[in-house]
Amino acid sequence: MKKKWYDYLWIVSVLYLILGFFNILFAWLGLLCFFIPLGISALGGGKLYCNKFCGRGQLFELLGNRLGLSLKRTCPSILYSKWFRYGFLVFFLIMFFNMLIVTYLVWSGAHELSRTVTLLWTFRLPWHFAYPAAVTPWIAQFAFGFYSVMLTSTVLGLVTMAFFQPRSWCVYCPMGTMTQLICKQKNKKSCRSV
Ligand code: SF4
Repeated sequence: MKKKWYDYLWIVSVLYLILGFFNILFAWLGLLCFFIPLGISALGGGKLYCNKFCGRGQLFELLGNRLGLSLKRTCPSILYSKWFRYGFLVFFLIMFFNMLIVTYLVWSGAHELSRTVTLLWTFRLPWHFAYPAAVTPWIAQFAFGFYSVMLTSTVLGLVTMAFFQPRSWCVYCPMGTMTQLICKQKNKKSCRSV
């Protein structure tokens, strides 16, 4: 089947991660990966974003299937369970709001800007090399926090891709869970994903 332009969106996902090494402010672009899928689902497009436009899902597919980096074992059933998927979504949202609070504290002057990226919500990696001078601190803080979220989810996705099915991250991806919830409310037929 002839490739369409959107089949190459995995390149955008790779570029996004690379650009974050050079200038952390590019991390703001990651908000598109939040608002576009939610917007599409809210407007009745169901899982269209997951099925066609998600560069991250394409990237896992490419690495796992084409490059053979996945063991392609069956995902543990726990990943499919509602409590795990919803539990992970709640955890993810709590961490996201925590990131917003830190951004607020930097904005208010109560906290100093931290030029670090936090991997897996635990490991603080020095990231000062990607910090441009003369940036409003809260804008940079949000970028560091958001890049941490994107990098962490990519690492989790890569690990589950390696051990299980290439797109096993999609089973518990918070965006996937949220769009699933939205489209279930709107139209059950459009809730199928790849
Ligand atoms: S579940 Fe997440 S990673 Fe997978 S296609 Fe949807 S938005 Fe992308």
